[in-house]
Amino acid sequence: MDFKPLHIENRCQFLVCKSKIIIAGPCSAESEEQVMLTARKLRDLGICMFRAGIWKPRTNPGGFEGVGEQGLPWLQRVQKELGMQVCVEVGNANHLEKALKSGVDMIWIGARTSTSPFATQEIAEALRGVDIPVLVKNPINADLGLWMGALERISRSGVTRLGTIHRGFSAYEKTLYRYPPQWQLPIELRRRLPGITIICDPSHISGRRKLVPAVSQHALDLGFDGLMIESHCCPEKALTDASQQLTPDELSIMLSQLILRDEVPSEDLFAGYREHIDRCDATIVKALAERMQVSRQMGELKRKNNILVLQSARYEEVVSAAVAEGTAKGLSADFLRKLFELIHAESIDQQL
Ligand code: PEP
Ligand code: MN
Repeated sequence: MDFKPLHIENRCQFLVCKSKIIIAGPCSAESEEQVMLTARKLRDLGICMFRAGIWKPRTNPGGFEGVGEQGLPWLQRVQKELGMQVCVEVGNANHLEKALKSGVDMIWIGARTSTSPFATQEIAEALRGVDIPVLVKNPINADLGLWMGALERISRSGVTRLGTIHRGFSAYEKTLYRYPPQWQLPIELRRRLPGITIICDPSHISGRRKLVPAVSQHALDLGFDGLMIESHCCPEKALTDASQQLTPDELSIMLSQLILRDEVPSEDLFAGYREHIDRCDATIVKALAERMQVSRQMGELKRKNNILVLQSARYEEVVSAAVAEGTAKGLSADFLRKLFELIHAESIDQQL
């Protein structure tokens, strides 16, 4: 995949905002007044990228499904009168065409859309030859392949300013979160696509405004490139996602309290520890090699004496001895069991 890191200007005074992408705005554009009032307050905080959904993908029919294209001129006012950039969610090629015609600065593809390869492909094709930054939210289910597939479809259409958003995943059970995060997925995504811009949407993860600061801090601690936060001038009157939106004042307090950590320690703070860990790892590798060599010798002996390779009773003995010894030294039984299952499986392979 070919992409450049996404850059969005920020004039926000808070430390955390200087090097991070901050996108803020209401879940939905509801009226011209609500859009202008919210955007003005966010602009006064120095936020440069305004979000607002005008086509809303609702789980259940019958709810507020967005104001549709009549909201586009409101976003043009935000651009012209407040000097902000604007972004909207597009769910199909028709939305994209209207958004582009109206001059939006960026688009995002929502979680329900990135879940569908047909829908994502339709948007990807409509994006061919269009030079606009695109953010793809994770699909609603925790499937890294599907997530990467959606990114690849957009990338193949020639979009180079491509980023992605972790907004959590649907869960059947009731949890603390509305869409529980699974941080290992964006971490793995970063490993597979080094350099891709990854933003966190703490609002949809949280579902409740009081969780938004902690989720935001967690994302920053993991090195996310920015935050997309829902902010509404009057959240209690919001037509969608009322319980997770922050007022611009609450957002300002949160941003002033977020802590930005150093990416790399300034002096070599960990040098001694890292050398120690490297020595431990070398000991582990040496012991494993020795163990596998003994296994191969035993395999030879079993073959000569016509004895089965797998000795189940012995396997139980090996795992329980390791668990007993390791737990006495403070290691977790679950970890030891997983580790020795792997070692035992490899040992059997060596004897076959
Ligand atoms: C939104 O950003 O308002 C939205 C609908 O998000 P998601 O696609 O993450 O549910
Ligand atoms: Mn929302």
